[in-house]
Amino acid sequence: MAAYDIAILGGGPGGYVAALHAAVKGARVALVERDRVGGICVTVGCIPSKALLDSSHAYWLATHGEEHGIHVDSARFELAKAVQRKDKVVAQLVAGTEALLKGRKVDLIKGEGTLASPTQLRVRDQTIDAKAVIVATGSKVGMPPIKGLAEAKPLDNVSALALTEVPKRLVVIGGGAIGLELGTFFAEVGSEVTVLEMLAQPIAYADAELVRLLVRALESRNVKVRTNAKVTEVTRTAAGVTLSAEIEGKQESVEGDQLLLGAGRVANLSGVEQAGLATNRLGITVDERMRTNVEGVWAIGDCIGDPRAPKLAHVASTQGEVAVDTILGEDAAMDYDVVPNVVYTHPEVAQVGLTETQAKERYGTAVKVARYSFKASGRALALGESDGMTKIVTAGKDQRIVGVHIVGPQASELIAEATLAMRLEATVEDVVATIHAHPTLAETFREAALSAVGRPIHSPR
Ligand SMILES: Cc1cc2nc3c(=O)[nH]c(=O)nc-3n(C[C@H](O)[C@H](O)[C@H](O)COP(=O)(O)OP(=O)(O)OC[C@H]3O[C@@H](n4cnc5c(N)ncnc54)[C@H](O)[C@@H]3O)c2cc1C
Repeated sequence: MAAYDIAILGGGPGGYVAALHAAVKGARVALVERDRVGGICVTVGCIPSKALLDSSHAYWLATHGEEHGIHVDSARFELAKAVQRKDKVVAQLVAGTEALLKGRKVDLIKGEGTLASPTQLRVRDQTIDAKAVIVATGSKVGMPPIKGLAEAKPLDNVSALALTEVPKRLVVIGGGAIGLELGTFFAEVGSEVTVLEMLAQPIAYADAELVRLLVRALESRNVKVRTNAKVTEVTRTAAGVTLSAEIEGKQESVEGDQLLLGAGRVANLSGVEQAGLATNRLGITVDERMRTNVEGVWAIGDCIGDPRAPKLAHVASTQGEVAVDTILGEDAAMDYDVVPNVVYTHPEVAQVGLTETQAKERYGTAVKVARYSFKASGRALALGESDGMTKIVTAGKDQRIVGVHIVGPQASELIAEATLAMRLEATVEDVVATIHAHPTLAETFREAALSAVGRPIHSPR
């Protein structure tokens, strides 16, 4: 008899959540992790980047508080100290996760694992037999094919989060979430940041109108975003780096003291290359129940290749729960229609569901859009952070909500209400009928809904 019901390879937010979920349902679980539990997200991704962004935001507020009557004569940002705080936050979460695993009697096996057969993981000379295996090996930095880039040794998410000196000029390749978030952090603590994005807009998947608002706000914080900017060559110089790039059709040279690679993460298939799993250009091919082509083997998180599935921590965790439920014989499947996606810049950008363009492609003329500016929000004005907008996209006669897009302070928190509304298939009338506390940023959602039903209160008709 197999020692375990489920063996999991990789202890990131996909793998460790699958382990905790399976254990709570009574399964015998082994979790194999070569580094720290929590994976990229907890140790060198979501959490440390947010810890640093919270430090830079506090510094920014302290040094831009004149309107609030705050005058700081000798403010100084000590990066090494902020990095220490970030490391403490990470260590606390790793320890907490290990304690949870122990408490649920999950066997945590430390070491590099390989998928030896559909029912076996191998770690050094130990063989772990299980009725089912979940592959949750995550992602790694992929080097885009740019001349001289690898030799120039750009900063990645690991080294950038461990710098102890603020670079004077930072060049970032890639205007996705990682590039913009780390760019915001360094800009707020004093770097001149230039982000080079190959496409026509940063955060390619996001609503174009909100991205324009974001770019304007970022520029006022020393983050210069250059679009249609294709980097063709990188050269390391004594002073730093020089990049050759074709920007808006013209050849330009961009210089920096440090270079950060914010683009190009790829699926990590280490330990499973020989297992016969079908893959595509994004990673391991799975169905909506997270089953691979090999009977008995499931795959979840950043290592999978499903174009509908954003590579996000909460998506990996949900996939972990779905994989476990399917293994245990329950009827579970992934549904990617209602997945919140946040970029933690200042201001933040958050969205759930379809953009206006996507909705029009799917529903045609039945689509309506309503907006509410944070400039009309008492709470945003009180905060002194009124760069922002809430935008609701609806479809059909009953104006069901099919997308919500927010740029503004705390957009990451505000999107939860919109996500629940969409999950419950709410209409804009449902939102209007919901009393919101005053004064809150969340009121912008109801105000946008009021505009959507043609009964605006605090915005012009
Ligand atoms: C800088 C940065 C910021 C981010 N911010 C956010 C954010 O704010 N919100 C968000 O949702 N997402 C964010 N992400 C993305 C998020 O980190 C990933 O989507 C998430 O970590 C994926 O989880 P996972 O479990 O699939 O993989 P991972 O977190 O990559 O974990 C995989 C684990 O498997 C282990 N492993 C791999 N191979 C083996 C092997 N052969 N043997 C043993 N162990 C192995 C690894 O050591 C690792 O711990 C961020 C990413 C980065 C880089």
